[in-house]
Amino acid sequence: MELEKLTCHEIHKLLRSNEITSLEVTSAVISRIEAVEPNVHAYITTTFDEALEQATIVDKELGCGKKLSPLAGIPIAIKDNMCTRGIKTTCGSKILHNFIPPYDAFVIQRLKEAGAIIIGKTNMDEFAMGSSTENSYFGPTRNPWNLDYVPGGTSGGSAAAVSADETIVALGSDTGGSIRQPASFCGVVGLKPTYGRVSRYGLIAHASSFDQIGVLTKDVTDAALLMKVISGYDLADSTSVKIDVPDYSNYLEEGLKDIKIGVPTEYFAEGIDPEVKSTILQAVDLISEIGVRCDDVSMPYTEYAIPCYYILVTSEASSNLARYDGVQYGYRAGSSLLDMYKKTREEGFGGEVKRRIMLGTYALSAGYYDAYYLKAQKVRTLIKQDFDNAFEKYDALITPVSPFPAFKIGEKINDPLQMYLADIYTVTINLAGVPAISIPCRFSKDGLPIGLQIICKPFDEQMLFKIAFALEKILTE
Ligand code: GLN
Repeated sequence: MELEKLTCHEIHKLLRSNEITSLEVTSAVISRIEAVEPNVHAYITTTFDEALEQATIVDKELGCGKKLSPLAGIPIAIKDNMCTRGIKTTCGSKILHNFIPPYDAFVIQRLKEAGAIIIGKTNMDEFAMGSSTENSYFGPTRNPWNLDYVPGGTSGGSAAAVSADETIVALGSDTGGSIRQPASFCGVVGLKPTYGRVSRYGLIAHASSFDQIGVLTKDVTDAALLMKVISGYDLADSTSVKIDVPDYSNYLEEGLKDIKIGVPTEYFAEGIDPEVKSTILQAVDLISEIGVRCDDVSMPYTEYAIPCYYILVTSEASSNLARYDGVQYGYRAGSSLLDMYKKTREEGFGGEVKRRIMLGTYALSAGYYDAYYLKAQKVRTLIKQDFDNAFEKYDALITPVSPFPAFKIGEKINDPLQMYLADIYTVTINLAGVPAISIPCRFSKDGLPIGLQIICKPFDEQMLFKIAFALEKILTE
């Protein structure tokens, strides 16, 4: 049996019936990483020794008959912007290349309590800025389906690791699509929860009012299991919300009776690759055929999403990144105080990060604040209202994840505007703070995966799981 190819729920069963051990699973994943990493480069840091040690502990507990959480003994990869105590956390940047956090992020604490095995930290665009994982100080990750192509970004390392069986499950973060777009490009499941569902404590900030931690998995069932473990209120994150976390797994088999789905016409307009369009519309036809009502719906403010997103995100980022000055964290250059500030930031940050700091500082500056930042905040409210209106009539929306399948490494890296346009169907979701999932739908004629996005009301992740599970079944039949 190739253990690294299994899902979390399959492994859990085999562990419980003593047919396999966590040590065997962990060793299988490590061998796989050793075999494919020279090509894929999904990881920045691996933690094999600690992982093997942890696996032995879980096996002992299993031997004593201890009841285990579904994640116990399961290897998991963590995007390198989540703080892991004693394990280097670089955020894909030179400025944090040697940063070893003295504490664990909330989600890491939860994973450890559940007995999950951290196998390594995955590659990402520097400070989670980008759409291709080409902006990493540590070099690009490659798409396991075709090594000439990008895995998507910014959680490209996590998506590639799951897709190439270099881990069983992974965590990513999503500010404007960074879980869903790489999930779509790599043919895996990726879920961005409602803003406030998962604590951001210990997640290195990109844009605080957008960032959410979420999951990348091989199937919808695993996503439900992992989301249950990482969700919930945390006193240390004032934006986390005190709402019960349902047992998502219980909703998977509920079926689609009485569900109404909206299909926003603006998400199929000019610029979309015809193959992506037909793939998603065919999937909509398939669910209509089984009796689910699917209607066209209009979300008129969609066209303002990209400019609105990039004004707000760069503004928040320019403020969040002010803390990297050579004094407290990571890289330090220069001699005198002013020289240190200048040189540390000049040498420590890459091109895209500097571009965003400049854009954001400009949008926030006294003379331009009203014209850009304030205006964008108002547009954000209108975009949110588009969703509120749609959810008055529909339980969920179905859209593409990205206007095109994965593109070639190098194809867009020198054209930031083209790169920003890759996010057109994902940033709206973060602007509105609603949850969304990307599930694999079909392959393009070039053999690259195409994902489908399902969007639901805030804190209605149950509905996402219900629809995603049913659709996963239909699409794989
Ligand atoms: N591509 C988007 C950006 O560059 C999204 C990033 C993200 O979700 N972290 O901002």
